[in-house]
This record gives sequence, C-alpha cells and structure tokens, in this order.
Amino acid sequence: MSHSTDIQTLFKTLGLPCPPDSAHGIEVRTPIDGSPLARLAVSTDAQVGEAIARAQTRYLSWREVPAPKRGDLVRVFGEAVRRHKEPLGRLISLETGKIVQEGLGEVQEVVDICEFAVGLSRQLYGLSIASERAEHKLLETWHPLGVVGVISAFNFPMAVFAWNAALALVCGNTLVWKPSEKAPLSAVALSGLLLQTARAQGIEADGLAELLLGERGVGEALVSHAAVKLVSATGSTAMGRAVGVACAAQFKRSLLELGGNNAAIVCPSANLELVVRGVAFSAAGTAGQRCTSLRRLIVHRSVHAALVAALVRVFERLPVGDPLAVGTLVGPLIDERAFDAMQRALDAARQAGAQVHFGAREAVGGAAAFYVRPAIVELANQSGPMLQETFAPILYVVPYDDFDEAIAINNAVSHGLSSAVFTQDLREAEVFTSARGSDCGIANVNIGTSGAEIGGAFGGEKETGGGRESGSDAWKAYMRRATNTINYGNTLPLAQGIKFEI
Ligand code: NAD
Repeated sequence: MSHSTDIQTLFKTLGLPCPPDSAHGIEVRTPIDGSPLARLAVSTDAQVGEAIARAQTRYLSWREVPAPKRGDLVRVFGEAVRRHKEPLGRLISLETGKIVQEGLGEVQEVVDICEFAVGLSRQLYGLSIASERAEHKLLETWHPLGVVGVISAFNFPMAVFAWNAALALVCGNTLVWKPSEKAPLSAVALSGLLLQTARAQGIEADGLAELLLGERGVGEALVSHAAVKLVSATGSTAMGRAVGVACAAQFKRSLLELGGNNAAIVCPSANLELVVRGVAFSAAGTAGQRCTSLRRLIVHRSVHAALVAALVRVFERLPVGDPLAVGTLVGPLIDERAFDAMQRALDAARQAGAQVHFGAREAVGGAAAFYVRPAIVELANQSGPMLQETFAPILYVVPYDDFDEAIAINNAVSHGLSSAVFTQDLREAEVFTSARGSDCGIANVNIGTSGAEIGGAFGGEKETGGGRESGSDAWKAYMRRATNTINYGNTLPLAQGIKFEI
C-alpha cells in the first residue's frame, strides 16, 4: 500500500472524511521516502477572518457553560483519542517520521492531558483574601480570555495542540489552530475528532476549535487579529521572536514554547549504564528532533573516555530506518533542510578541531528521504555550533573538572529549556536543582532531558520563551484574573484609612 493510500485508510478508520486534494495547496510529503501524502488548500485571508469571527461568537456561549460540563467534552474527546490510538500514532509516524513507539507515545500524551483537564475543570479555584475593612470580602476570581490562537511546530503535531486545547476549553475559551505546514494532516485528524465528539454530544461545534492551514503568513494573520486574546506559539526561537514582538505591540498575551539547547552533566559517581541508556534516548530518539533532545553532554574528565567509548559502541549499532518497521529506533529527518543544517554544523565542528563520530547519511528510503546515523562530537570546550540549537541528532561532548564549572557550561547558552545531572552524590543533585544550579525550566536528576510527564508545567527560560504549558498551574495562562472587593455592610470605609467626606 502506498503511503497516501494508507492516509486515506487511516481517515476512514477514524470515521473522518479525507481532506480533499487542492491543486495549489501545501504539498505534504512523508519523510519516510519523500512520497506525497496529500495537497491541502491554504486558508485565505478571508477564511482566517471568518474562522476567528466564528470562534469569537462561539466563545460568548461557551463561557456560559459550567466548567465541569466543558470538562465533559474534553473527557469524551480523550476517550475517542484513546480508542483511536493506533491509527493516530501511525498518522504521526507517516507525517513526521517518528518511530511507531513515539507516535503512540505522543497520542498517549493527548489522552493524559485530557484526563488532567477533566480534573482541572472542577478545580479552577481562586483565593479568598483577608480584607483590611470591616464587612468586606476580598476575592480573586478567574475568567476565560476569549479566542486562543495556537501555532504549532512539526515535531509534536498532536500533543502541542492538545496541551493547549484541553486546558483552554475547560477554562472557557475557544480556539483557532495554525499547525505546522509540515504536518497538517495530523491536525486535520485531531481537530476533526474533537469536533466529531462535540457534535455527538449535542454541542455546537462551529467556532469551538477552528483550523487554519498554511505557512508563516497564515500564522501572522492569526497573531495580528484583534479578537485573538492569547497566542500560544510553539516552534523556533526565530518564530517566537517575531510572534512575541507582534503580540507585545498589541498588548496581547503570548505563551512562547521555543527552541532548546539541552545539556546533561555526568558526574564521577554516576551509574554509567543508566547514563548510556538515558543519553541514547534523549540524544538519538526522535532523530534528535525534540525541543528537549539532549544536545550537550558535560562529562567529568575521570569518566569521559569510558563514557564516550560506550556511547560510540551504542550509536554505531542504533537501528536507523523505516519508522514504521518494528525494531527501528531512529527514523528520518523531517526534510533536506534539516539534513543540510546538520551537515553544516558537523563541518563547522570539524573545522574547530572536533572529533566527529558518525552523522553521515544512511542509504535508506531513496533519494528524497534523509536518514542519518546520530553523531557524537568530541570537543575540548564548549564553542562554535555547540552554542546553538541544530534540530538534528548531534551530541556534543565536553569534559569538565569542577562541578561549578559544569553548571556554568550548562547555563552558558542562550536557551533554557531542559537539563539533567547524573550523579549519586546528594550534594551535587541538590545544588543542580537549587537557585545556583541549572537555569532551565526543566532540571532532572538521573534521567535524560527529554520525555516530560504532563503533570508538571512544561517550558523554559531565556530564548526558550518563558512560557509554561501542560500541568501544574499552567492553566492560569488561559484565564484572566479579577480581584473582587465586596462590601456587605452599610458603611463605605476607604482603603488605607483615607477620609473623603462629602
Ligand atoms: P518553526 O518555527 O519553523 O515553525 C513553527 C510554527 O510557526 C509553524 O506552524 C510555522 O508556520 C509558524 N511560523 C513561523 N514563523 C511565523 C511567524 N513569523 N508568525 C507566525 N507563525 C509563524 O518550527 P519547526 O521547524 O516546525 O519546529 C522546530 C522548532 O520548534 C525547534 O526549534 C524546536 O525546539 C521547537 N519546539 C519547541 C517546543 C517547546 O515546547 N519548547 C516544542 C516543539 C518544538
């Protein structure tokens, strides 16, 4: 079966119409062998405006629905996604090249965040605060924002939308989603399932979660529309810089989830077997195309040679190949651009005197597919391409002598997403996770940098954008807070004891 026929079968299994081919639309190709999957129509400016207007109208009634009832929609949607886990996971693999296990894992993330949001729909609590005035009550209450715009990256074509949508919907907002032009089919399927769920529950689906397809220009139109009250944007730092500035100019809220240049420190006491497994998944998994992928390994000089040798042994036999085949651990890069960026970074490292293991193209999938063996790059110190995020499987390794120096190396890059320390020394673990430790949004101990659970808030500092999504109190980003002072007496005392007698 061709991959495009597979797509049609998958949509049929999901009970959804396959999106019609459009002569002049975005061409979607599978990174598995570069063959075309579909050609989808791009949203016009008029359609962008109409979709946002529908979402705005729908918001006015959706905000009146009690939050636990809104949670009910998310619960049933999560159940539908769980039922369709296999076809949805396969669709992610076909569109992004993720191995089947990781495609399924991403769908599980959608289910998990829906479950979280259902519980949250009964816990959107504010505070009751002691008032300084007699017969007065001071409260904090939370209200929906309105239309939430979501812009997503190619590498998590379902989970990122679900992180936003599950929370935004229970909070009483409606959504307009602009997915990556590299993975629009996953978006058509997931939003289709959400609306199908709504209709089956007798909920008006129009305007609840609108989908816009296209490239950057469609995202820009979404960002600049006055009715969009929050833009949650996931992608490169370059994109976030443009979106952040555009939102700030309109005093619009933005939630930015951008690039990462993530590091792990390996201390002398670390369990090296655990390190090798954690590093292999974090650095080579998803072909290095996670925002949390491990890109920098900072290794104590006493264990440096042994660890590099062990990693080289593992990387040289990593099964690189068709992501749909059982046993494959490393699928393709998304496209030729990603391959070229990887080769440029490796060339720059070689010129800087680095020893480069692997990283070349593998003869899999034909001329239009880009498979690589994940690279290990030994450097004497942190410099050159190691300071930037290259969205490909390159693991730079540098030695360190002193733990404070290792933390300084961890923190000396412009991104601040994920980090880890491997140690059996309590003091090192505590220092790493303290105020003078890692400056990242995620700081792990004895696990790799990638693979976050949805219970915690997810996001990072510095050029990662500062946004937080998913668990903990991330829901507050999707609501506005009002402070209410209520006078239940018959006098009118002023705050701070001010007298204003008339
Ligand atoms: P990208 O920045 O090229 O595109 C992301 C999305 O932004 C796409 O939908 C694109 O069309 C849109 N876009 C681009 N420029 C825009 C603009 N000026 N205005 C509005 N929309 C615009 O990113 P990508 O290649 O799809 O994904 C890889 C990047 O995403 C990596 O840097 C990775 O680290 C990051 N990422 C971050 C997270 C996170 O949670 N921090 C998660 C996944 C990916």
